[in-house]
Amino acid sequence: MASDLEKTAKDRGIKYFLISYTDLFGTQRAKLVPASAINDMAKAGAGFAGFATWLDMTPADPDLFAVPDPATLIQLPWKPEVGWLAADLVMNGKAVEQAPRVVLKRQIEKAAALGYEMKSGVECEFFLISPDGTSISDTADKQEKPCYDQSALMRRYDVISELCDAMLGLGWKPYQNDHEDANGQFEMNWDYDNALVTADRHAFFKFMAKSLAEKHGLRATFMPKPFANLTGNGCHAHVSMWKGRENVFADDAGELGVSELGYSFIGGLIHNADALCAITNPTVNSYKRINAPRTTSGATWAPSSITYTGNNRTHMIRIPDAGRFEFRLADGAVNPYLLQAGLLAAGLDGIANKRDPGERLDINMYTDGHKVRGTKKLPLNMLDAIRALDMSGILTEGLGEFVPSYVKLKMEEWNAYSRHLTEWEREATLDC
Ligand code: ADP
Ligand code: MG
Ligand code: MG
Ligand code: MG
Ligand code: MG
Repeated sequence: MASDLEKTAKDRGIKYFLISYTDLFGTQRAKLVPASAINDMAKAGAGFAGFATWLDMTPADPDLFAVPDPATLIQLPWKPEVGWLAADLVMNGKAVEQAPRVVLKRQIEKAAALGYEMKSGVECEFFLISPDGTSISDTADKQEKPCYDQSALMRRYDVISELCDAMLGLGWKPYQNDHEDANGQFEMNWDYDNALVTADRHAFFKFMAKSLAEKHGLRATFMPKPFANLTGNGCHAHVSMWKGRENVFADDAGELGVSELGYSFIGGLIHNADALCAITNPTVNSYKRINAPRTTSGATWAPSSITYTGNNRTHMIRIPDAGRFEFRLADGAVNPYLLQAGLLAAGLDGIANKRDPGERLDINMYTDGHKVRGTKKLPLNMLDAIRALDMSGILTEGLGEFVPSYVKLKMEEWNAYSRHLTEWEREATLDC
């Protein structure tokens, strides 16, 4: 394989490779390796000091090696002389079990052992903002209901079309781009694929959107709630499960065309939602998007309760079509690999235990949710979610060594946040 990469570099005019991995907080880390050195590097891996990134390691740990997966090679559409490679982490000759891409691969192996392959598509909402991060970049983008605003979309044609052209060139089968529900917010959709392919593309899409926005003098942010009064950045995931060429979530005789297996998977997500939230909504800011008051557009489009429904966008899970469902909980801060891994771990628990998702709710949750007794609320903040994950025997067993590492780092992050004095608390408390 290693020699293939050097040859590929010659054939395609690649001068450098970015050997890249995503750490536990979703940051992509890389080394830029000249093509002449890629043979050895691809075999042994590129060396890193693990403690210098978010992986729950110590400064005394030995070298961490990022071993690239040649199947992931992408020539940067905006700089084709650089080839991007997603890598898996190895230390002391063993896979690093808490590394996000490894965590996902373990879940995929578990599903495969049962004969299943999960396929998913992600909707990565983002804002195009000013380079200093303080405001949206288009001062004319002011409509109260800005969703699908044709003119605001076309004022960003240069960057949106460059992104879409790139995805067309990469063979991702993009099919639509639009202005979303917040001023300054956009979404670009491409075709679903198996969970690992989608996770690698999701990671690359974030890198590409940020890079191309910068090239156009803008900044792309996936922050869950960058502006308090506007709709936040969701990262919905659509999910189906396959046995070979058969979608085993599809069943003509099932409610809404979803099979018993599909409902068990949904049951797993419902059962584990509060713990899963620590993964799908991983930042302090995430909890300003869910459980949020109405935005200026009229709706947050984000869930507050642990419910599922048919084709209705006010719930945590929506069944828009036969043979798949949409998980609307995750936000723009979600780690691409941990999103898919978390869905699989919770869903496989649902399948193994035939979890009953309960009754489908067809009401408008934003106006009538409070009238339904017994629906569980999502965690109100990151601490509740982290504690739920820490206490979850199911996800700890399902996701393995990753959980204690992740909980430890996230708890440190919560403590750092807690030491921070906000303007709100000063105003609310100065005169106590
Ligand atoms: P919406 O905004 O209505 O929720 P989008 O069109 O923005 O939907 O995104 C839908 C995503 O779902 C796309 O990535 C699409 O490829 C994916 N998708 C469609 N069918 C399936 C399926 N059977 N399994 C998994 N993902 C699917
Ligand atoms: Mg050095
Ligand atoms: Mg969409
Ligand atoms: Mg959207
Ligand atoms: Mg959606």
